Formats: sequence, C-alpha cells, structure tokens
Amino acid sequence: MSEEKNKAAESLKAITESKELADRMGKIKHKIMVLSGKGGVGKSTVAANIAVTLALEGEKVGLLDTDFHGPSIPTLLNLEGRHPESDGKTILPIDFSEGLKVMSIGFLLQNKDDAVIWRGPMKMKVIKQLLTEVNWGDLDYLIIDFPPGTGDEPLSVAQLIPGMDGAVIVTTPQNLSLNDVKKCINFCRQLNVPVLGVVENMSGLVCPNCKMIINVFKTGGGEKMAEEMGVPFLGKIPIDPQIVEASDNGEPFVYHYGKTEAAKAFAGVVQPLLQMEGKAESGIKTVSSKEEKKEGMHKIAIPVVEGHLSAHFGHCEEFSIFDVDLENKKIIGQEKAPSPPHEPGLLPRWLAEKGVNVIIAGGMGTQAQQLFAESGITVSVGASADDPEKVIISYMNNALELGGNTCDH
Ligand code: ADP
Repeated sequence: MSEEKNKAAESLKAITESKELADRMGKIKHKIMVLSGKGGVGKSTVAANIAVTLALEGEKVGLLDTDFHGPSIPTLLNLEGRHPESDGKTILPIDFSEGLKVMSIGFLLQNKDDAVIWRGPMKMKVIKQLLTEVNWGDLDYLIIDFPPGTGDEPLSVAQLIPGMDGAVIVTTPQNLSLNDVKKCINFCRQLNVPVLGVVENMSGLVCPNCKMIINVFKTGGGEKMAEEMGVPFLGKIPIDPQIVEASDNGEPFVYHYGKTEAAKAFAGVVQPLLQMEGKAESGIKTVSSKEEKKEGMHKIAIPVVEGHLSAHFGHCEEFSIFDVDLENKKIIGQEKAPSPPHEPGLLPRWLAEKGVNVIIAGGMGTQAQQLFAESGITVSVGASADDPEKVIISYMNNALELGGNTCDH
C-alpha cells in the first residue's frame, strides 16, 4: 500500500474509533471521575462506595478502575481472578449486583504481581480501547477510579470524554494531602471538568465500643481548603474499622453497614450526583458554603462533663458537636472533641473553625458570650445539666427550657 493510502486508512480508522467512542459514551448519562492527590487516602474505597450507594438508590451504574499499577476495585468487591467475557467486538463488564457493572484493568492483567512497564502513550491507547470497547449499555452513571495524582490516566480520560460531568476529590485532613488536592482542583479547572466537591476521608475515628466519633487528629482541613478554593465540600467520612474489615472481605461497606455514620456520610457525598438526575434525599444536604450551612444545617456544640451538659462552660472536659437539620428536626451527625487548652480567645476561634454556629451552655460569662457573638456563634445559656442528645432534641422541638445563667465569671 502506498504511503498516502496508508495515511487515508489510518485516518478512517481514527474517525471510526472516535465515532464508536462517542456512541458508547452517549449511552451514559453522567460520567464522574474520582481523584485524589495522594495514595492511601481511600479514593478507591470512596469510588466503590459511591457506585454502590447510587446502585442502592436504583440507578444504573458502571464502575471503571483505570489503575494499571495497583487496581484495587477487584479486591474491594471480591472480584479478583474474574475475566470479563467478550463477544469478539466488545468486552462485557462484570455484573456485580442489581444495577452495578464493574470493569477494571486488573481483570485484563495476566498476573497482578507482573511488573509491567506502562508508558504514557501505551496507557492512553489501553484507556481509549477500554472506553470504546467495554459495552456498558445504557447507564445513569459511570464512576471512574484513577491512580493517585494527576497523571496520564485522568488526563487521557478527560481528553477522551469531552463532556465529563465532574470530579469528586478525596483527601484526608492532613495538610500534606491537602496541598496535593489543590493540584487536583487546578488540573480539573485546566481540563474544564467541573469539581463536584471534596470529600474528607478518615476524618475522626468511630469508637468500636460506643460508635461515637473521636477526633484523634485534627479534622476540618478539607472543608477549610474547599472553601478557600471555592469548591463544594461534600462531607467527612470517619475512620471506621468496619470499612477495613468490609474491604478485606470484598464486601461493599455501605451495603452491609448502611446504618453507620460512615455510610450516612457516603449518602451525603452522592447528593450532588443524584441531583444531576433530579433526585436528592431530603434529610441529607451537601454543604457548599458557610451561608447555606447557616440556613439549612446547624452545628451545635454542647460543653460536656461526665456525660452531661457542663454547668460551667470553661471547665468542661469535651464538646459534643451535633450536625442538626433544624427544618426536618433531624440529627445528621455527631462528634466529640476534647476541650482545647485554656488560652484567652482560643475557644471561639476553635469552635468557629469547626463550623459551630450555635452553643447551648449552662453558664457562661458575658465577656465570653460577646467573643462568640463576634465569631458568628449564637449562645443559649441556662440549659440544665442533661444528656447532650436530649438537650439537642428539646432544642430542635423548641422545647428547651432555659433557666438563669449558672455562671457569670
Ligand atoms: P487509595 O485508593 O486512596 O489508595 P484505598 O481506597 O485503597 O486508598 O484505601 C486504603 C486503605 O484504607 C484500605 O485498606 C481501606 O480499607 C482503608 N480505608 C479507606 N477509607 C477508610 C475509612 N474511612 N476508615 C477506615 N479505613 C479506610
């Protein structure tokens, strides 16, 4: 064949492939990338649980794992060693459950321990082939999991699917991973991929005994960073030992532990995705700005001593902090935070940084009340030394009885 004929044949092949890719992607309503700046922050766990949560909502979902070097979706869903079938022209994804189909590069690698050297153009070729040939059929959502960072895989996918609906970015609260998230956000902005929001994973620890959330490290860094970067914050997922157990057993966490705080947090994370389909759960709202938080959701702190509301604000052992949906009279979340060291002016700053906008206390000095007011926190004093949850329930029902200020120093 002459060189010209060769070129013509190649360009025809490229046009046909692009059309096939466009046709395939045209059957998928929403394409979502799940990214993280660093490895080990729980990105694949979040991607898998987003996919399962959406499938449990009755959506038709595909989960695509594009990690060449450490595909973890097959392990997370107990699909290791499975091989997708092919009809000679297309590859059929594995049916995981009602409404959820899965495809992973891991299914195509001969041996997961094989040291395969993949170079950028080669990866691009395989990803293009996956996007073109995997026959998902009609889907509501395709959730795409990537290796950490902003390398060849997300770049290829974002370039190959021009109408990408958005990216969910996963981080942990530590500064180190937060800096990398900023790179992810800028990467999305350069490629015109809307950032749906940031998820702070491994934020606080669920106590295996009492199931309360203990803040072993600082939390809230992801939320603050999201605000700084002008992107929505989708919620905090606590460290829950049951997530590790479920992952190790290849069971989807949200399916088996649907009543946990972490599963509720996942339900919050998928809200903007469900909104794309005109669906959203009434009780759970995403928090995208300070203003929205004040209107819909309230963060209420109660000083606690020996399990009860502390009559003396300055002498409490810890704070019980409740996420409350006042409109629907619902407690959405709860965490306990040990009281910070005594330093002048520290408490208002500390509570404001945690997003607290209401304090219910027994007693508090007028000067302290003024400092809280300056930080935008409303204070109710005179509550009795009750169980904090009871106090919140009374508050939500406008039935909280406030006596005199039990402390004024
Ligand atoms: P990444 O994809 O970012 O590399 P993985 O999703 O593979 O991270 O998660 C790394 C490890 O952390 C896994 O063992 C997983 O079970 C665990 N993990 C992820 N999120 C949580 C969490 N919220 N609580 C407890 N363990 C978690």
